[in-house]
Amino acid sequence: MDSLQVKSFLESKDIKVTVKRLAVIECILRIKGLFSAIDLHNQLSDRLDVDLVTVYRFLTVLKEKGIVRDVLSDESVQYFEMTSMDNPAHPHFKCYQCHKLLCLQPLTFDDSLFFIQSAGDLHIDHVSVVLSGLCKDCDQ
Ligand SMILES: [Zn+2]
Ligand SMILES: [Zn+2]
Repeated sequence: MDSLQVKSFLESKDIKVTVKRLAVIECILRIKGLFSAIDLHNQLSDRLDVDLVTVYRFLTVLKEKGIVRDVLSDESVQYFEMTSMDNPAHPHFKCYQCHKLLCLQPLTFDDSLFFIQSAGDLHIDHVSVVLSGLCKDCDQ
């Protein structure tokens, strides 16, 4: 997506577009994976006067609109990723040694159903599965 496409996509979701917000979402699209507000801020702050609070607020908006989802929090850092047709909900793997996060294969409909059923009559609107262990680099 070029800037114009990103802009009209956000506007189609009723999101106010500013230069800073456009820069943040372009950064998210470039990352193609998991990111935290701090990652985005680090990547942007050397060329744009954007503070961390602005990034956090925008991520909250994107989350409310279903454009990004929280994946997990590691200590106090919250990680997000884009939601889209080609990025269905999937489990994540976290290496407890180097703290690397990886996206795993998407859950099938039956897998998701299993988790939802295990919650009984609780109202579930989000399934997040995190497996942890040692990644290939650390497991040598
Ligand atoms: Zn590792
Ligand atoms: Zn993922």
